[in-house]
Amino acid sequence: MFAARQVALAGFDVFLFNRDIKPGGLAEYGIYPIKDKMKFGLRKQFAQVLNLPNMHYFGHVQVGDGYEVTLSDLDAMRPAAIIFACGAQGAGKLGLPEEDAKGVYAAKDFVYHYNQLPPYASMDFSTGKKVAIIGQGNVAIDISRWLLRDGPNRKTENVLVIARRGPFEIKADQKEIAYTDQHISRDELTAELARIKERCAVCGQDVSPEKIFELHFRHLLDPEFASVEPRLSFRFLSSPTAILKDANGRISQIEVAENDLVLRNGSTVAVPTKDRVILDVDTLIFAIGDKHDVRLGLPMGPDGYATEPDPAQPNEPHFEVWNPESGRVIQGLYVVGWARRASTGLVGIARHDGEVGASKAIEYVKNAPDSGTMSEMEILAELRKMGQRVVTKADLALLGSVEEREAKQRNLTSFKFSDDEVMFKAIAEAKEQMKAGRSEESDLLPAS
Ligand SMILES: Cc1cc2nc3c(=O)[nH]c(=O)nc-3n(C[C@H](O)[C@H](O)[C@H](O)COP(=O)(O)OP(=O)(O)OC[C@H]3O[C@@H](n4cnc5c(N)ncnc54)[C@H](O)[C@@H]3O)c2cc1C
Repeated sequence: MFAARQVALAGFDVFLFNRDIKPGGLAEYGIYPIKDKMKFGLRKQFAQVLNLPNMHYFGHVQVGDGYEVTLSDLDAMRPAAIIFACGAQGAGKLGLPEEDAKGVYAAKDFVYHYNQLPPYASMDFSTGKKVAIIGQGNVAIDISRWLLRDGPNRKTENVLVIARRGPFEIKADQKEIAYTDQHISRDELTAELARIKERCAVCGQDVSPEKIFELHFRHLLDPEFASVEPRLSFRFLSSPTAILKDANGRISQIEVAENDLVLRNGSTVAVPTKDRVILDVDTLIFAIGDKHDVRLGLPMGPDGYATEPDPAQPNEPHFEVWNPESGRVIQGLYVVGWARRASTGLVGIARHDGEVGASKAIEYVKNAPDSGTMSEMEILAELRKMGQRVVTKADLALLGSVEEREAKQRNLTSFKFSDDEVMFKAIAEAKEQMKAGRSEESDLLPAS
């Protein structure tokens, strides 16, 4: 949205294609549901972007060679440039056999589910009493918070965060951990730190409780503090090696390798030993980052969509899509945000990335010959010819007012539909009501 705004403010028409009916991506469907202030702020900004007169919106249109509107279809609309700001929609898993067992989920899908994104909202993401989460970043902590505190119909007795490295490598912010640390038992965490102490010391890491509590779990420093159930536990220096299923095909256990910690080029690396441990779990969530969606059809490099490599400036961002086969940049194609670097940074970082990438695209378009881009109506006609049920800017405005009305009726601060068909119906009904309203008004007009 921020890349689109940048291009629109530079005076160009922007044609925004979005897989979802509603805009916002992970800002709407990823950020924790009760972070209202942040969500409302972003929604307001997105509405302002959509209100720009040269901004055109095609919602519920998924683009990519593996989807109905291919990159050649897009090309046939003759855009002057294309900016891919489509995030990282592939799931990060470990490639273990039985990863498709019931009760095993990718974090983003799970998060989409509790944030009401269709079709995930109505899919089975059932959780049991013993949930293991692989990964120790903010997403793992968000999901723990949902399972321990805010999710409806909670059954969770224990969330076990499993991490291949140690507590020094916890990536979650202390602010986020603070939402969950009342569920951490001081004794249990102290015992876990003692279990890994020697293996961490090899890398010069002091994982004494005082140090680790100060670093990540300040509540536990307070002698008055008493933890509450359900529990949040940690198992460090452990990598999943197998998923075991019960007779119903649901995960019942996970096997993990005990890892050693070694220093390589100044960084700690987890090296699995031959020792294995079996843990009882009924739900497993992988929160190890997302991957780029190969079905989009952009050339892939080692870190996702290929961008121009520049050995002289390896740390400088490159937004131009690169074709590794021809060894050339593909003119006029750009990737920004999580589509450039998967699972990297918060909204502010993705926004900045989008804006810098957009400025590159603007420079390119300014100097390129006129491509004769189709008009909004022509694009709409093309998409409809392809059988797409497109949601336009006007439709979004109608949907927004129906959702606002629903929120008022239900006495909520906000409300959003979680089913595409229901949204289409709401838009159609709002259109009918508008037409009826207009014709009632016209009945009152004197006949000309
Ligand atoms: C669980 C979770 C919690 C987070 N919490 C916070 C937080 O509290 N604070 C914070 O600042 N940041 C948070 N973030 C990070 C933030 O969400 C990201 O930085 C940001 O959303 C990335 O933006 P993006 O536009 O690159 O990708 P996305 O937000 O993923 O947006 C991609 C957009 O592209 C669309 N799309 C995808 N594929 C296609 C396709 N093939 N065709 C058409 N459209 C497509 C999607 O529908 C979506 O609208 C969180 C992230 C996650 C995963």
